[in-house]
Amino acid sequence: MKTRSQLEIKRQRGDFIGSFAVFGYRKDPENRHRLLVDEYAAGVVRDMFKWKLEGISAGDIADRLTAAGIPTPMDYKRSQGMRYSTSFRLKEESVWDAGMVLRILKNPVYIGVLEQGRVTTPSYRVKRLVVKPREEWAVVENCHEPVIDRYDFESVQKVLALDTRTSVSGKAVELFSGMVYCGECGGAMIRKTVPTAKKKYVYYVCAAHKNEKRCFSHSMRVETLDEIVLDALRRYIQDVINLSDLLELTDTAQLQQAGMRKLQGRLEKKREEIDRNQALLRSLYESLADGVIDRDEYQDLKKTYSRRRAEAEEQAEAIQEEMSREMGNFSEGRGWMEQFRKHQNIDALDRTIIVSLIERILIFRDRRVEIVYRWHDEFHWQMDLLRQAQGTLPGREAV
Ligand SMILES: [Zn+2]
Repeated sequence: MKTRSQLEIKRQRGDFIGSFAVFGYRKDPENRHRLLVDEYAAGVVRDMFKWKLEGISAGDIADRLTAAGIPTPMDYKRSQGMRYSTSFRLKEESVWDAGMVLRILKNPVYIGVLEQGRVTTPSYRVKRLVVKPREEWAVVENCHEPVIDRYDFESVQKVLALDTRTSVSGKAVELFSGMVYCGECGGAMIRKTVPTAKKKYVYYVCAAHKNEKRCFSHSMRVETLDEIVLDALRRYIQDVINLSDLLELTDTAQLQQAGMRKLQGRLEKKREEIDRNQALLRSLYESLADGVIDRDEYQDLKKTYSRRRAEAEEQAEAIQEEMSREMGNFSEGRGWMEQFRKHQNIDALDRTIIVSLIERILIFRDRRVEIVYRWHDEFHWQMDLLRQAQGTLPGREAV
């Protein structure tokens, strides 16, 4: 068992233990457990993420790479290994497919995270490989230089999740694809084209109404939505930038204290909840003994209170973890703001901007549009901290 546990230690430490570096990296000749960026392949990976954010499908990305004569990860690996061999000739054509592209787009190795030990052999006699549950993988962050910005990586993961819900074939997606919802019933809004003699009009309509006549008949022209979203987004970007600038000017210690007070308040609430459920559990047996409730009710209630207590305990633990993180690197929690600053002064929308900054868009019956921005909780959180640090809300501990 010795070799196995040593391997485990290496994984936990974030040592790279594979025999080949993943596409985009090469092994450090000085330390074969470290990964260095392979600039050529990393450039290809960056293009792939950029294209995906622009709304290009994995299949089309694969075709682009093939057309450009970019070697697949396998062919590239071979070409590197045989660099000095005279017999080596590059294959006529290296053909990419959507699966290869998706494997790269989903791999957190590109943001510096190593996920190892995903598979195991159940025993030394059985050579079959078994995929372990995710929580048993060795996941270590900041192992090596990232190739992709963390926020871009997250945006791509979001886009991939949207794709599985929306895309029919491999064609490029529409600007708001998968993100527009009906404010009345919460279902998806879908595009409906109405051709007239002169031109085609495209509207967003509630799918529930169109298909089953549930919900309300309401619609909005795509151009109108485009204008509303652009206008609102520009104002929101400015709000985020203003907030970010104000935070920069505010004393870090004061902000940190405000943050800790808020978290402390949340923690106390959770502790009260734990105590309350604990007390309820204690009184439950008395109620049974007094004949106030019967056995079945007793069992049911016991299960409910125990579950609530366990949930509250878990949440309390998460808050405590957040508190220690907050103590560590405080300003790291504001990195998302740069995503908005990057798009300051936009004069048109594109898919990358939409998926990077917006979570979803709701259209109501009265043609009101509500935009849920990404990191909106963090926005309010930072706003509260700023108010508290500036003392504009004395004594009020909004939790
Ligand atoms: Zn609806």
